Amino acid sequence: MDFELPSCVPACAICDDTTWKTVDVDGAPRVTRCDCWHQRLYDSLLKGARIPRRYTHCELTNFETHTDSQRTAHRKAVRLVEQFPVVDRGLLLYGEAGVGKTHLAVALLKEVIRRKGARAVFYETRELLKLVRDTYSGTGEATELEVLKPVLEAELLVLDDLGAEKKSEWVEETLGLVVNTRYSERRATVFTTNLVDTDNTEPSSFAFHLGLRTRSRLLEMCEWIRMDGVDTREVGPQPTHEDIARWQERSPASPKNRAKSGLPTRTSGQARAQIKPRDGKADLKWPGGRAGS
Ligand SMILES: [Zn+2]
Repeated sequence: MDFELPSCVPACAICDDTTWKTVDVDGAPRVTRCDCWHQRLYDSLLKGARIPRRYTHCELTNFETHTDSQRTAHRKAVRLVEQFPVVDRGLLLYGEAGVGKTHLAVALLKEVIRRKGARAVFYETRELLKLVRDTYSGTGEATELEVLKPVLEAELLVLDDLGAEKKSEWVEETLGLVVNTRYSERRATVFTTNLVDTDNTEPSSFAFHLGLRTRSRLLEMCEWIRMDGVDTREVGPQPTHEDIARWQERSPASPKNRAKSGLPTRTSGQARAQIKPRDGKADLKWPGGRAGS
């Protein structure tokens, strides 16, 4: 039988829905915000954070560490949460796929919302660029600035999978604008990327893909952490020591076998163009026309 609570029963038994509660501080009563108020704020900020459903389970407490670099990255993530919003530099987590970069970035973003009530937002780089590009078609309501505003102004931004987008002058300028604005406003940003930090003839390098100027901004505004680990997409979640040893031995993707093959961790493709450092003023006057690809 369905049973409906009468509407006069408060949803919160602690505060009778006043959102205030009395606590004891050194023997004296003090009024403070009720837990339900914090929960509602957290729920609403979390909803605004745009975390894709496949990452909603990601927490700092369920991040798996199998290597020293994963432990280091986890420690730095915890420290960023503790220090927020007084954070000198964000984090740039780079390394192969499957080592937990996005998990860690999402987890720290949620924790900053939960513990600090921060306005924090997650964008997958390709998705962000698509949203900006869609504003040029005239079909959407939003302007490019309306799309970019929350990205530029969030107290914490996670920009996921930097470098997965196809390189173009427009992409370089748009990402340069995001990086530069957040840099000059001293807002904390966490990047994840598969890009490698080799010279600018390597297409998967920061210098080639983003330009030297943006690379140097990233060096200034973020602590770079190279992450390696077992690829949990290959080994499966919660691998045993035996699983990891077997993977190390057999998988062509394991660090050991990659080193043996003598190949770079990413194939270099055929492009060999040189990047010229740009004087690049990052404003909204896109150089390659508005229909950038
Ligand atoms: Zn309450």
